[in-house]
Amino acid sequence: MKKKSLIAVGATLLSGVFLSGLQAASAEEFVLVIHGGAGAISKKNISAEQEAAYRAKLTEALVAGRSILANKGTALDAIEATINVMEDSPLFNAGKGAVFTHEERNEMDASIMDGRTLNAGAIAGVTRVKNPIGLAREVMENSKHVMLAGTGAEEFAKLRGVELVDPSYFATERRLKQVKRIKAKNAGVVLDHSSEKISAVGDPIDPDHKFGTVGAVALDVDGNIAAGTSTGGMTNKRWMRIGDAPIIGAGTYASNESCGVSSTGHGEYFIRLSVAYNICAMMEYKGVSLQEAADTVIHDKLTNLGGTGGIVSLDKNGNVAMVFNTEGMYRGYVKGDGEPSVAIYEK
Ligand code: ASP
Repeated sequence: MKKKSLIAVGATLLSGVFLSGLQAASAEEFVLVIHGGAGAISKKNISAEQEAAYRAKLTEALVAGRSILANKGTALDAIEATINVMEDSPLFNAGKGAVFTHEERNEMDASIMDGRTLNAGAIAGVTRVKNPIGLAREVMENSKHVMLAGTGAEEFAKLRGVELVDPSYFATERRLKQVKRIKAKNAGVVLDHSSEKISAVGDPIDPDHKFGTVGAVALDVDGNIAAGTSTGGMTNKRWMRIGDAPIIGAGTYASNESCGVSSTGHGEYFIRLSVAYNICAMMEYKGVSLQEAADTVIHDKLTNLGGTGGIVSLDKNGNVAMVFNTEGMYRGYVKGDGEPSVAIYEK
């Protein structure tokens, strides 16, 4: 009996020490930042219910990642769990709810990067992988490759026991209507470069097109950074078009030496500017702050080239930058045990 109570006291003391240690660590040392896509998102084209639904889902995603980080879990585990919440929600253009291609299919891309080792994994053009970010992680951790595509990626998924679903799982009425409307608008129009650009990006006069790619970047209590991005790409895409989301250095980048970044927007521009890598490289090579690096790449380089979109990022000291040149970006962050903060519009 005596022994038992001693053990109980010991356990209480231990858990007290553990908890206070955890609180101190979590209050200062872990950070998670996410996005759910950037684009023509303005108050006038979102109802109060839709806005509440987005805010609730972003918060749920942040809470899922925060609980892993608070238990001293890794940045990689945190971003995968966070992105899973958004992939499983029809609200976002990733996993369930992915946009439709011109042929009215859902083709998904994703990537993940470990800032500790600079290992990375990516997949492109998959149609049956329930959670694309998980397969990107499998590529990183259990293959000798960085990127797998299409049916090959799905064969690898089968080998690794990654969950596959019928392609109809990803389809939502809202996204189908969206591609049909864009196709109808283009019907009879010979697509030159500029009209193709408009139909692919989501012209602001199409009020329902609000992007919705998802991404997350985390810094864990061990000081490791990880970043990941998952998307259905761009509405009405054709010819197995692949965007920036699965391109390491464009859609995703992470290095413990500098920062982690996840991008969203018109992928063709993000690829040509190596947006994610350039932000980290500016920090590492030039010693500029994360905010300055992100502002330069988005507001200077991307805007000048004519691209639209944004990024979320954090650096090795836990600073957060969320920068976009569109009307809005679904976004949020949480630092330590603090409350999640989410936002949609510019102000
Ligand atoms: N960047 C994605 C792509 O180009 C789309 C997006 O973020 O909305 O595929």
